[in-house]
Amino acid sequence: MSSRREFVKKTILTSSLILPFKFSASGNGFDKTTDFQPLILSTWNHGLAANEKAWEVLESSGDIVSAVEQGVMVTESDLSNLTVGLQGLPDREGIVTLDAAIMRGDGGCGTVSFVRQVMHPISLARKVMEETPHVMLSGEGARQFAIEQGLEVLPEKLSPEAEKAYKEWKQKSEYKPIINIENHDTIGMIGMDTSGKLAGSCTTSGLAFKMHGRVGDSPIIGAGLFVDEEVGAATATGLGESIIRICGSFLIVELMRQGWEPQKACEEAVKRLIAKNKNIEDIQAGFIAMNKDGEYGAYSVHPGFNFARHTKGENILIDSKSKFK
Ligand code: ASP
Repeated sequence: MSSRREFVKKTILTSSLILPFKFSASGNGFDKTTDFQPLILSTWNHGLAANEKAWEVLESSGDIVSAVEQGVMVTESDLSNLTVGLQGLPDREGIVTLDAAIMRGDGGCGTVSFVRQVMHPISLARKVMEETPHVMLSGEGARQFAIEQGLEVLPEKLSPEAEKAYKEWKQKSEYKPIINIENHDTIGMIGMDTSGKLAGSCTTSGLAFKMHGRVGDSPIIGAGLFVDEEVGAATATGLGESIIRICGSFLIVELMRQGWEPQKACEEAVKRLIAKNKNIEDIQAGFIAMNKDGEYGAYSVHPGFNFARHTKGENILIDSKSKFK
């Protein structure tokens, strides 16, 4: 975690979460005047590096789907990251299984769950979205599809850090969710381009030392990620079970459809999550959201959640507000 923190450039507290609506993008790498301000948000401090890449892809290609895919690929490739990608912490059998989802604002989506050995599950999710009539592929079928599609599939081997952590965990073999540490750090990214197109992505190795076969919220459309071009986008991080129970990301987008500001919608989702989950003192969950007006918000159950925001020329880390202090 600490090496990821090296990416931190600035930390500010959320005070005003509203960006100007109309602006001229000329001179900003984008070459036309637009009604929409490009914006990329992603969860946790690893979001800074991911946002950097996403912005670069958006500027050069104008393609928001490629931006959110390639942005989170940075995190999937980050060998110091124990919560995303193949170097992540394994399940209780010592096997790393990955979940990922990608969604466009027009309803197109693809997800993979419980998949092994695939270097970039987010690219596999995109292949599911673009190359199959399905939304979700799981387990061995997903892995086989990755091979068919020519994606990188690596031999199964724990990273040295993951192996060390697994050995330590095995001494007690006790699973207890712990908040705000490396076992709850999915990257979720949502973004808007200059034409108001929206997309989102989400990728994780899930809870550390989970039961073999456990799937979290990240590849469940509506739970870990939801995007609707008419309204906005939301994504989640934290204890997946608590997020699935309230269909968190869908809930936020639907509240925004009814006119709620993204910040208020995230707060309402956290309120709902607290109402529907026992032992809330042991559960961390957080949401980020944006609407088409360039407004955004974030909220979590406990303090410690943060997110990265990339706007024109600025990529910063912002501390989320939380229900409990
Ligand atoms: N949401 C993920 C899961 O439950 C965990 C995380 O955010 O780190 O699988």
